[in-house]
Amino acid sequence: MKFTNSEKLHQEALQHIVGGVNSPSRAYKAVGGGSPVYMERGQGAYFWDVDDNKYIDYLAAYGPIITGHAHPHIAKAIAHAATTGVLYGTPTRLENEFAQMLKEAIPSLEKVRFNNSGTEAVMTTIRVARAYTGRTKIIKFAGCYHGHFDAVLVEAGSGPSTLGTPDSAGVPTSTASDVITVPFNDIGAFKVALDKWGDEVAAVLVEPIVGNFGIVEPFKGFLQEVNELTHRAGALVIYDEVITAFRFTYGSAQQIYGVEPDMTAMGKIIGGGLPIGAYGGRKDIMEQVAPLGPAYQAGTMSGNPASMAAGIACLEVLKEEGVYEELDRLGKRLEEGIHEKAREHGIHITVNRLCGALTVYFGVDQITNYAEADASDGEAFAKFFQLMLREGINLAPSKYEAWFLTTEHKDSDIENTIDAVERSFAEMAKT
Ligand code: PMP
Repeated sequence: MKFTNSEKLHQEALQHIVGGVNSPSRAYKAVGGGSPVYMERGQGAYFWDVDDNKYIDYLAAYGPIITGHAHPHIAKAIAHAATTGVLYGTPTRLENEFAQMLKEAIPSLEKVRFNNSGTEAVMTTIRVARAYTGRTKIIKFAGCYHGHFDAVLVEAGSGPSTLGTPDSAGVPTSTASDVITVPFNDIGAFKVALDKWGDEVAAVLVEPIVGNFGIVEPFKGFLQEVNELTHRAGALVIYDEVITAFRFTYGSAQQIYGVEPDMTAMGKIIGGGLPIGAYGGRKDIMEQVAPLGPAYQAGTMSGNPASMAAGIACLEVLKEEGVYEELDRLGKRLEEGIHEKAREHGIHITVNRLCGALTVYFGVDQITNYAEADASDGEAFAKFFQLMLREGINLAPSKYEAWFLTTEHKDSDIENTIDAVERSFAEMAKT
């Protein structure tokens, strides 16, 4: 397999775009460096790079592309928006339609507001929670990524309930010191944090199913306890469902576990591949937001007709019967196949899977929190990634990311992927 054109484009990109990429996770830094693969076109479960190599896509653009590339129903909706105007700066009928669709799918959303990215959505929920409670501190779980705004770029995994230190240059220590980080799935550490800082805490920010150190489910009862303890402390529960909304069911993770947060942030899938964010929740809390309340949030592009149309079309596809059952069936087959090949070749792995999303961790027995994911073998993953790429299987270039299936993956894609896994494991077993 040749990557000549990708390499050329990357050299060019390095002259003009910082680091050659517009989001650092696209760089191949964690998988041995080199040029990332430049894609040219996509169709269904496949995309083709600028050297005309074909890949089965498990990146799914880090989650949003759950219906595959260029889905005809979504393409039609976007094309219609393109010919009737993509931005008016006025309200439109589509915003009402989409808001109602989201509310029907996720009952805790009494009121919603659209914006343009997951980062924006989570950022605003924190502002609103602070406005509502009159408090400042937030609790988040170690290793959970919530976007690139200051308050959540706080180092994770530094022991139970420590006050945060910034994870990025340029984040003021004063901002980071308002963030308390606790290990996921550790209710004891969470209680310690609340005992110490509970009356200063505005909100607890939770990925109900973690997607950012691989797919990690909450222990039984964990989310319920977090809810109960948070409310007892007078703070709000915010669910970051940027990855999880419409990923595992038509609705959100909160419905899978039967818990309701006070506010929810979303993004990714709900935009059908176009830029989007949305947040919503209890009416009395959401009414803190301008123009009704004192918490300001705005956006020139927010609720734009193209994103609305793509989002509605995407949910229409996902609402069809059997979509998530099929994702689960294919996900299960893929998981079994990977395990089978790992056993055959003596490769030590753990697979965490829920429905059509999974993570393969190397050299570890279980992953329930960030520290365990962090301890997985990054070198083995890097090798696996590079071998799979050359097999025409595109994974996210990080040991912490998930493989995402789409509605367009077929049995034959899964079988071809398992064959590629077999050859990659065989190669890895040689060293
Ligand atoms: N929250 C979670 C859980 C995410 O996974 C991400 C993005 N990976 C974000 C927030 C930020 O979303 P965006 O990249 O759209 O700003």
